Formats: sequence, structure tokens, C-alpha cells
Amino acid sequence: MVTIDRVLIANRGEIARRIATALLEKGIVPVLPITEKEYSQAVAGFKDCRLVNSPNTIYLDSDALVALAKSENCQAVHPGYGFLAENAGFAELCEGSGLIFIGPPASAMDLMGHKERAREIAKSANVPPVPGFSIDGQSDLEIKKMADRIGFPVLVKASMGGGGKGMRRVDNPEALFDAIRMSKSESAAYFGSEDVFVEKYIVKPRHIEIQIFSFTGGRTVYVGERECTIQRRHQKIIEESPSPVVDEKRRREMGEAAVRIADSVNYIGAGTVEFIVDESLNFYFLEMNTRIQVEHPVTEEVFGVDLVAWQIEEAMGTVEAITQQELRGAGHAIEFRIYAEDPDQGFMPSPGKILLYQEPAGPGIRVESAVTTGSEIFADFDPMIAKVVVRGHSRQHALDRAKWALSNFVIFGVTTNREFLMRIVEHPAFQSGELDTSFIDHYRADLTAKQDEISKEMLLLAAALRKTNGNGGKQAAPGDSQDFYPPVNIRLP
Ligand code: ADP
Repeated sequence: MVTIDRVLIANRGEIARRIATALLEKGIVPVLPITEKEYSQAVAGFKDCRLVNSPNTIYLDSDALVALAKSENCQAVHPGYGFLAENAGFAELCEGSGLIFIGPPASAMDLMGHKERAREIAKSANVPPVPGFSIDGQSDLEIKKMADRIGFPVLVKASMGGGGKGMRRVDNPEALFDAIRMSKSESAAYFGSEDVFVEKYIVKPRHIEIQIFSFTGGRTVYVGERECTIQRRHQKIIEESPSPVVDEKRRREMGEAAVRIADSVNYIGAGTVEFIVDESLNFYFLEMNTRIQVEHPVTEEVFGVDLVAWQIEEAMGTVEAITQQELRGAGHAIEFRIYAEDPDQGFMPSPGKILLYQEPAGPGIRVESAVTTGSEIFADFDPMIAKVVVRGHSRQHALDRAKWALSNFVIFGVTTNREFLMRIVEHPAFQSGELDTSFIDHYRADLTAKQDEISKEMLLLAAALRKTNGNGGKQAAPGDSQDFYPPVNIRLP
């Protein structure tokens, strides 16, 4: 057993809040670097945490984070789930400085951090990756031949890529070399590497991923799947578990494939093996994310586990390894990512001050966020405001709760995708589970705001103003008659 009583969280916002909660539950003090701009608004949200006023670049600065952890007497670092969470160099730096890195071994992160290398690992573990090829050292003629062989459309991808960056669909041979050139320069700019490769573009695919957890001592379990097919710009916005199309047999096949991949790199801790699934439900390895993911709550809701607590217990040496048979999913959970962005303007971020914030609450509703009334969404960071996770005894029950939760989530002052998400939930194709990754583009006309919805929004605002006394988004107590002065400059869709 290892004593851990102070942990540095190398991240911000809802991520930091989620991890801080898991630490506080165990009596561990979370130490959080908070940038000057966000410091005053963080104080209320991170009660019982040690907050350290830090420069804006802190979350990308490995050396500064390690120095902070040492000076704050932390024994461990949790990287959160962005920026440095998949950086093997950061994990090594922590371990080299005598700090426990709460995540997988740097060696496993390193192996999986390069998509082309990860594809080879999958093959060795008897899991097919998407058909594709390396362009390294190949002549233009050979590249063209290989692309013709797998068939157009193809996808040019950055080996070190993430967040959908450096990825280009190519529909015909004439466009191939331009796409390779552009992907290379985008990849160099974002990831400092020109490595790109070519994959077959799977038409109308679903993105389905398997959550795994590897316990020290050699047991890896799969904790069901997450359907993450609803995406904009190759980035997920709605995730659910279980997938509407995965039956027990396929779950076992995909789960066992994910476990083989994790075991082949001696994985430890939480990880996700991502698959792309074609129209006939054949699945192909896409990549492995060597960290806890944004969408982990849907798995936790269905399986009744706490993945972040497991990570911490794994680091402390106190985790009790669970068996595959003990993991039984029940019901259905769906997560919605609420962003300060404008779906009608190409999902452009819309930073600004939140003038009124009220989270929905009720049975089967979990909200993860780190903002309140008066918080500002800054252009410097990812514009996610909150995640709403709903759980029901069936998919339909979860969908009903989703409608209720999303329509009772009050966020004024910044444009959000809340209503856009509601229109997805209400869409017949989403309701029936007929999904593919082009859903948003395909149904764009149905998902665009209609004029008459503005009046609905006004009614909601009026109701919210009546109920609120401006106390940080909490509902006013019955009989509380304190006046609330309506905010000015409310932006309506
Ligand atoms: P990143 O690491 O940048 O997120 P991924 O490889 O995980 O990239 O892919 C992100 C998304 O891009 C997938 O969920 C899927 O929607 C799309 N995608 C990736 N590879 C393919 C492919 N071969 N065919 C079709 N779509 C793909």
C-alpha cells in the first residue's frame, strides 16, 4: 500500500471537478493549478481543494506541473483527460521526479500514442484494424496503387493525431497527394510530426468503443461499450451505453478483442479501445485512448462502478480486482456535451459570461460541470460548459429523461448547443437508433433552429427568472421573495 494524501490534478473545468470529487471521497486533498482569469470563479466550485494561482500555459507545461506537485508536497499526479493525459513523456517526468502518475505505464502510452504502430499491435493481437497502409518510404506510384487496391474513398490520417485534427477524406485518386500534403502540414503544426498514413474510409460507420480496466496482477476486464456515433467535425457530442446495435455476442467479441490489445502492451488502469463499425456491423480497430475519457460516466451509470476511484485505488495498491462475471450492466445511459458554441454557425465557439445557470436535477440525472451563474467561458480553453448524463431502465426511458433534463437546463448569456441536442433527441432516426457518423450533416435541415422556438426560449427565461433569486443557480426556496434583476444582453438563438 502507498500513502497518498495530496494529488495534483493537471487539468481544469469539469475534468478537474470530477477527479477532485473522487479524491475528496477518499480523504485526499486535490491540488489544482487555476489560471489567474479563472481563479475567482473557481473558488466556490472547488470547495476543500487547494487552489494555486497559475499562468495561462500551466496545463501544457509538464515541468511547471511537476515542480508545482513537488512544492505542494503531492505524492501523485492525475493528468485528467486532455492535454497531457496521453503524453508518455509527462508520465515519465512524473515518475522520474518521484511522483506517482495516476494512469497507465508510460511504455503502454508510448506504444499506443502512434496510430500506425497501434494498428500493428492490434494485428498481432488478432484484431483487424481498418484496411490501410503506410506511406513511409513509398513512391507516389506505389501509394496510388495501394490506395486503388483498398478503394476510394480513403482517409489520410495523422499518426500522432487526436481530436479529429490532421484527418482528410479523399474521394478520388486526383485529390490524394494534395490531401497527404495538407495533412502533413496540419499534423506538423498540431502534433509536431509529419507522420501520416492512409486508411479506407468506412462509409456510414458507427463509432463504438470498449471501456477496459487492467488491474495489477494481470486481470483485464471490459466494462461494456459506448456508442459515440453522433459527432460534429469528427468529435463526439452524444454518447450512450449500451449501443442500440450491439448484442451480447458482439459485446463479448469486441470486449475480448479490446482485452487482447490491452494485455499485449501490459496495460494497467483505465483505457478505451475504439472501433469503427461498418453497415454490416463488422468492427475494425481505430485506436486506443490510454486515459479515462470524457464520456466515461455513461459506463459508470450502467455498470455501477467508479472508474476514477479505481484509478486512484490502483495507484494506491488498494483496488479490489473485479471479475468479468461480476460486471453486469443494467439499463441505459446517454451523455450530452453542452458547449458554448453556435450550431447554426458551423459550431463556432461562443465564449462569454453566463448570466444565469440552472442545472436540471431529478432521478437518473447526473450533471458534470464547473461553472455557475456569473462564470465566464474563455476563448483560451475548450468551450464545454457541462455534461448531462441521464440513466433510464430502457433506452426509451433514458430518451424521455434526456428531453426533460435538456429542456430544464437553463443557460443564458452565451449561445449553446442545448437546443440542437434536444432536436437530435427528438429526431425519429435518433429515437430508433439508426445512426452513422454523418447523422448531423445528413439531417442538418431538421436540426436547424426554427424561428418559433425563440418564443419557447423566452418563456423558459421568464420562468427561470421567476424562480431564481440569483444565488448561484440554486432554485429559490419557496416563499423567498428576494428580487432578481433580469440580466441584460441575453443572446437568443
Ligand atoms: P482522433 O484521434 O483524431 O479522434 P480517430 O481515429 O479516433 O481520430 O477518429 C475520429 C473519428 O473520425 C471517428 O470516430 C470517425 O467518426 C472518423 N473516422 C476515423 N477513421 C475513419 C475511417 N477509416 N472511416 C470513416 N470514418 C473514420
